[in-house]
Amino acid sequence: MASPLSHPNIVDGWFRETTALWPGQAMSLQVEHILHHEKSLFQDVLVFKSTNHGNVLVLDGVIQATEWDEFAYQEMIAHVPIMAHANPKDVLVIGGGDGGVLREIVKHPEVERVTLVEIDEAVIRVSKLYLPNMSIGFSHPKVTVVVGDGFEYLKKNEGSFDVIITDSSDPVGPADVLFGEGFYALMKKSLKSGGIVCTQGECQWLHLPLIKDVLESSRKMYPTVEYAWASVPTYPCGNMGFILCCNEAGRDLSKPLRQFDLSKDENRYYSAAVHEAAFHAFEEVFWGPSND
Ligand code: SAM
Repeated sequence: MASPLSHPNIVDGWFRETTALWPGQAMSLQVEHILHHEKSLFQDVLVFKSTNHGNVLVLDGVIQATEWDEFAYQEMIAHVPIMAHANPKDVLVIGGGDGGVLREIVKHPEVERVTLVEIDEAVIRVSKLYLPNMSIGFSHPKVTVVVGDGFEYLKKNEGSFDVIITDSSDPVGPADVLFGEGFYALMKKSLKSGGIVCTQGECQWLHLPLIKDVLESSRKMYPTVEYAWASVPTYPCGNMGFILCCNEAGRDLSKPLRQFDLSKDENRYYSAAVHEAAFHAFEEVFWGPSND
């Protein structure tokens, strides 16, 4: 049956991800039908059922998660900082309105409280309807949800968190503020001693100048700053980076500090070996002298 809904990025049964953030290239996914489309207070929110990659969440024309490969991103952005922290009791997630990062964080018995601050209630609402395997994260008793701006939230919560995970969209619209120096300064103030920040760090193939700027400015604030990446096929160029900062000097964030307790839940992407490798592969290619 033909869907009554339409979207400018869907033509002839294909969704095409065109944006100025990656000029001259576009990821396409074949659409079975559109499940939801609205203009929320903050962004264009689209969910469609694809022919081969499950349900897909798209914000302002950019793919945020597909049911097919989301586990790679959610596991890495959550488990890398938590496993690099000696005693992660209090965790803050900024963004993350699909719930997938929450689903991963609550696998850790050491974590006692998780707060998620998502600016757009529409993302939470549609994820609960159409992305049940991600939004399951919202139902865990350790989780508190705040609908609001992560930047503003940090101003009121100094010294509160062991780990802060910024699962944000790209640096346009409401997430623009989450890539600036002011945001990294606020996160530092909100960390407890020994705290770790892990942010969505874009793609080395496409956004090297932005990544270098963020690394350079955060190195002025945090004594330990590192970059890791993961393979996520439906993100631009098929990979996604993570910027990790710790307010303790001399830390090696590429080393997990505990055995992962997998007695209740399996991981599909994250393991201790993948954790370590994520910090080292590509380093020569992207950070070497020929890229200065
Ligand atoms: N993993 C995805 C990616 O990199 O494509 C992003 C996931 S998506 C759930 C990111 C979320 O960040 C969106 O739901 C968006 O509404 C939220 N967000 C953007 N700016 C924000 C802000 N200033 N405060 C809190 N949440 C924000």
